[in-house]
Amino acid sequence: MDGWVRSLRRSKVARSADWSVEVVHEQERRPGGDVLDATTVFLTGTECPFSCVFCDLWQQTLSGHTPLGSLPRQLREALREIGQRSLIKLYNASNFFDPAAVPPADDVSLLRLLEGFAQVTVECHPRFVEDRCFSFADRLDGTLEVAVGLETIHPTALARLNKKMTLADFDAAASALRAHEIGLRVFVLLGCPFIADEEQLAWTLRSVEHAAARGAAVISIIPVRGGNGALESLAADGDWRPVALDLAEEAFDGALRLKLADVVVQLDLWDLERLATCSHCVEARVNRLGAMNLTGLPASRVACASCGAGTTRDRPRPPEARSPKPEARSRS
Ligand code: SF4
Ligand SMILES: [Zn+2]
Repeated sequence: MDGWVRSLRRSKVARSADWSVEVVHEQERRPGGDVLDATTVFLTGTECPFSCVFCDLWQQTLSGHTPLGSLPRQLREALREIGQRSLIKLYNASNFFDPAAVPPADDVSLLRLLEGFAQVTVECHPRFVEDRCFSFADRLDGTLEVAVGLETIHPTALARLNKKMTLADFDAAASALRAHEIGLRVFVLLGCPFIADEEQLAWTLRSVEHAAARGAAVISIIPVRGGNGALESLAADGDWRPVALDLAEEAFDGALRLKLADVVVQLDLWDLERLATCSHCVEARVNRLGAMNLTGLPASRVACASCGAGTTRDRPRPPEARSPKPEARSRS
């Protein structure tokens, strides 16, 4: 399966270990309702060893191992821009505790650079949630939150995603994080391959509930975006269809109506405009979803006389699959 997924990829975006770091500032609602300034730092390192059929993160990675000292250099550069903020996310398009992606000899430098942040979030596959992760949390000035891709609890779809993770693996990682008082952030897919269109909404909501029951503080719903090659091949076989904006709205509305206690559910807005088919209402609809990310409350749907959004039960056709912008990224 790895060979099949990789054979369908285009070339990577050319990057070197001294690539300029990318930083995104945003606001994030946390359990309890506080809205805090958060910064995401996109670090460049080696590619993830897994080859999930929906993932396009390899596009922004290096071909070899991450050189020693490269990530502290990138973080130092980012911190010059950031100033002091309370939350920082370090996303390296791979697994933070994979020694090939983040050399363990860099841990001390990274820990020093992260002094003063109340919370640090990193992303990691359950297979790398082990001693190094727990030791990093113990030595961190603030608290550690680990972002884990649950993706779906659909039994056959999860097995076919090529993530090499079972639901039991996810549950064990969640339990270990909880035992070490490390926060859990979870990614759940909408538009997951191998799930029928009419079941997408239900499985996304069930997956959100599962993540909440395993202790997730933040659950981010990620609409699957095409463009990695494998998804287009699956689409041709009828195993995947691009998500329509209408479905993303339904999923987020439904997730907020679950009223999960002490859990923030959010919708990933990255490149969400791509899901729209109507230029008249897309901006207002994305703005509505962005506002709901901050309030945690469902808002009235945007009504559009042009496409009928918010005024009819007919779901618009989803957009055709197309390549993402070079800088588009999903997450692990
Ligand atoms: S989704 Fe995560 S685990 Fe899967 S290939 Fe991408 S980075 Fe690796
Ligand atoms: Zn419209």
